[in-house]
Amino acid sequence: MASLVDNDISAFSGRTRPGYERLLELIRARGIDVVLAWAPERLHRSPRELEDFIELIEATGTAVETIKAGAWDVSTSHGRLVARMLGAVSRAESERTGERVSRAHQQAKANGFWRGPIPYGMQATATPGKPEPDPVAGPVVRDIARRVIRGDALSRIARELNEQGVRPRRGQAWTHTGVLRLLESPGIAGLVSSDGELREAAFEGVVDVATWRATRAALAGRPRGESRRPRETLTLLGSILRCAEHGHPCYGGGDKYGRVYQAQVRGVCAVRITRPATDDFVRRIVVARLQKPDAQASLAPAHNSPALEAEAAELQQRRNDIAGLIADGLLPTAVGRPRLEALARRLGEIELHRSPRQLPQGVFVDPATAWESWTMPERREIVRMLFSSITLRAAGNSQGPNADLRRLQLTWTA
Ligand SMILES: [Zn+2]
Repeated sequence: MASLVDNDISAFSGRTRPGYERLLELIRARGIDVVLAWAPERLHRSPRELEDFIELIEATGTAVETIKAGAWDVSTSHGRLVARMLGAVSRAESERTGERVSRAHQQAKANGFWRGPIPYGMQATATPGKPEPDPVAGPVVRDIARRVIRGDALSRIARELNEQGVRPRRGQAWTHTGVLRLLESPGIAGLVSSDGELREAAFEGVVDVATWRATRAALAGRPRGESRRPRETLTLLGSILRCAEHGHPCYGGGDKYGRVYQAQVRGVCAVRITRPATDDFVRRIVVARLQKPDAQASLAPAHNSPALEAEAAELQQRRNDIAGLIADGLLPTAVGRPRLEALARRLGEIELHRSPRQLPQGVFVDPATAWESWTMPERREIVRMLFSSITLRAAGNSQGPNADLRRLQLTWTA
């Protein structure tokens, strides 16, 4: 006797149920005499699935026994009617429960209350959903935000918190991911996320909204892996510089491995160039550009792109329409939910683009001196803002590092 288990996977959850798929296969292959289910409505997640099932067991002459409802005789029209009604009733009940829970949840968020675990830096008050800044942990969060904007690696921040004996709320020690999660929480900025849209919460955060957005922008602007790398090992153009022929990223070797930028694709591409000369060349071009009178106007961060604002407004309108249709029972939750989620995802992306990029201090006052005071992530950010690409052509027959800077091509951002 075979037993197939889809443990705890509701027929209504929309998740795939490998056990159910296997069951259908076995029935089709006539490897089963009797299907035993808890209740007929627990076997299927849609009327469509039920009809397919009825067809299949009729065609194969398979019996169905249920624990709650006894033998389930789908060979008669009455038996089929009962099965369809049970399925419909059970499905409606499941949807109502989901809607009730989700409505209560959404309502609380719409009122600006916090749902879920209270983020580090905040503490509970007598009013559920209205946490307040924690006098001890709050300043820690502000310091973390300041350091992320400055360009410190998350792994380094985590390590130093541990060295200072600061404990996270859960777990034994801070990790790169733990710091990242903390900064992802809108609650620390006094914001709640409701259907993917951030709105002002009914409580104060530990950092202001502009600071929180700046941390999000700082992290989003770093290439994969950069946010966890200690900035001491970052080079100015590592992975920004690309080979002209294939677009391979070139990485900057540390002092130990020779001071070069090199594309490392064995047997395909070994284009390389001396790092100190390249860095100095790019630095001089950047400083000269920033000294031009129009630099400030052309580099001022554009927060509110009218196109993005218009798109966000339209998405919000569509979201409200769909939510209204669901509330009025005109659109089934199963159909409306995925649409709401897609809208929320796009709104989240727009939210991220709205975050202002922060330019380091002194950028237009005295660029040459300012450059020296910037951290490597700040310098890299400026390079990324100024150039849409920096490419490197191969050096003919020469195999060794070659300082011929004419092989570099810098393309300004429009
Ligand atoms: Zn290449």
